[in-house]
Amino acid sequence: MPVWELACPDCGHTFRSLVMEGARVPTVWVCSACGSRRAGPRSVEAADPFTTRPGGSGCGCGCG
Ligand SMILES: [Zn+2]
Repeated sequence: MPVWELACPDCGHTFRSLVMEGARVPTVWVCSACGSRRAGPRSVEAADPFTTRPGGSGCGCGCG
């Protein structure tokens, strides 16, 4: 089940919303706290570039 994490820039409220499978992602999100329509998805955290080191060759322990 896809869960969107949303944030409201007006009041700082963060909330989550479920989007039905196959349904179109809404373009307007209404903040559940203040009712602002400026709420939107937070930056989606994809693969973190810092967790994966730039590939070196070998195991690096000198056993090579
Ligand atoms: Zn709000």
